[in-house]
Amino acid sequence: MPMPSFDTIVIGAGPNGLAAAHRLASRGVSVLLLEAGDAPGGGAGLAHLSYNLDPRVEKAMDLARHGLTWASRDLATTVVSPDGRHLRLQGDRVTGDLPETDRAAWTALRARLLRFAAVLAPLNHMAPPRLARNVGNPMVKLAMIGLKARMMGGAEFRELGRILLTNVHDVLDDELTDPRLKGALAFEATLGGWLGPRSPNSLLPWLVRLSGETAGVQAAHGLPKGGMGAITEAMVRAVTAAGVTLRCKARVARILVEGEKVVGVVLQGGEELRAARVVSSLAPRTTLLSLIGARHLDAGLVTRMRHQKARGGAARLHLTLRGIPDFMGANLQDRLVIAGSEHDVERSFNPVKYGKVPSHPGLEIVIPTAHEPRADGRHHLSVIAQFAPHAPADRDAARAEMLAACLAQLDRHAPGLAGLVERADLLMPYDIEDRYGLPGGQWHAGELSVEQMLFLRPLPGIAQYRGPLPGLWLASAGCHPGGGISGTPGWNAALAMEAAE
Ligand SMILES: Cc1cc2nc3c(=O)[nH]c(=O)nc-3n(C[C@H](O)[C@H](O)[C@H](O)COP(=O)(O)OP(=O)(O)OC[C@H]3O[C@@H](n4cnc5c(N)ncnc54)[C@H](O)[C@@H]3O)c2cc1C
Repeated sequence: MPMPSFDTIVIGAGPNGLAAAHRLASRGVSVLLLEAGDAPGGGAGLAHLSYNLDPRVEKAMDLARHGLTWASRDLATTVVSPDGRHLRLQGDRVTGDLPETDRAAWTALRARLLRFAAVLAPLNHMAPPRLARNVGNPMVKLAMIGLKARMMGGAEFRELGRILLTNVHDVLDDELTDPRLKGALAFEATLGGWLGPRSPNSLLPWLVRLSGETAGVQAAHGLPKGGMGAITEAMVRAVTAAGVTLRCKARVARILVEGEKVVGVVLQGGEELRAARVVSSLAPRTTLLSLIGARHLDAGLVTRMRHQKARGGAARLHLTLRGIPDFMGANLQDRLVIAGSEHDVERSFNPVKYGKVPSHPGLEIVIPTAHEPRADGRHHLSVIAQFAPHAPADRDAARAEMLAACLAQLDRHAPGLAGLVERADLLMPYDIEDRYGLPGGQWHAGELSVEQMLFLRPLPGIAQYRGPLPGLWLASAGCHPGGGISGTPGWNAALAMEAAE
């Protein structure tokens, strides 16, 4: 039977492809969503906490009606110390033995960072303005953001300007003294990036992270019931209800270009599918260099795309434990962070620059079985370990070394844990690239650094979701405003397509 024809083909059923497909279908567009994997969801299989689920997406897709519920809308963070002197952060409250001056300083710094992030948050929901042209509406939105920033008062406005260009280490060092607190914050600020806390301009990506909200709470760490896959599962039910046709095991091998226009796709196996518009939620680099091919593109664009930085620094570890671990009395329902000091975070980044494994990686740990126990009493430790090299000389040796370093770090903070391990699965950034298609295993499908943000993301000239060839649209985490299980770039791309009609 011939495949019915569609107005629009969306490539990739991760959060952004799902969000874009839903928005388009709910406006009456017939959409075919093609997913290479056996099941949709994409990078939701990598994620373990929600920090920036787009409220527009959550509402319009009615994810609650489609089954999304929360085990916690905002997990507390326990900063685990090997001597049992843990700190517990919940909102702006810190419990544990912390100097009073640090407690007050963190409350004030957090409030300020959240205020700055909230001022910048509307940027997430718009296409970056084209600076070269006077395009009206985006400029008005930018002016509104500028006005909101100015309304904070002269002193705060100047401080925002200063802080935007500074690095995480200096801001923490100016305000705080406690190494445990500085370490945990430096780890969070650099999570998903390829930047140490002392790297220039490292504060801005942290503000982007803090500008996210999840389940209505800014800068939260939400845990959906059933894990992060529950978000994309609800999204799949929503797109199906909206009339999107989803095909899994349908890997796009090539985007069809005729007469310098995109006219459809060719699947692995040779099936050809045509549509007036193709929306790719794959990383821009993959879309342009692998699926379109350099011969259809401007040589300068190809060079700039090749030079775009996409180095992943986070590894993913799943452990099955035969018993319950004891992190020196820490609450196992919390988000646990092992980071040492701010210097330890920087030290864990240093070897990665040279393709080597750090001896003391920072760890973010979630224990889903502490929220939803397993009948057999086993526990699941879900860990993101940072930093990890994306291109070591010997991949297998680096993976083995990283696993040993992670287990040693865990065992130092939860004595005896290593002896409980029944199964360990570690994905290094290069494994993540192979399995999930994120270039370099990069969290944001292209580093989220100042020179690759806003109208420079993914590249100048194609930063408004419109691809370099007519008929092609870009909708991945590699576009503004970056990654996470948010749906934001996908939603923004669909809005840009509507605006172009
Ligand atoms: C180690 C690690 C941990 C992370 N942890 C978190 C976290 O805790 N919380 C969080 O919010 N975010 C987290 N992220 C980030 C998050 O996973 C990504 O930013 C997000 O998945 C990007 O969404 P996307 O829709 O743009 O792309 P993806 O989720 O990568 O989706 C792209 C989809 O396209 C499919 N595809 C690929 N090639 C083809 C093809 N040729 N044809 C058809 N389909 C194809 C893929 O199978 C995939 O389903 C983490 C990332 C990493 C690397």
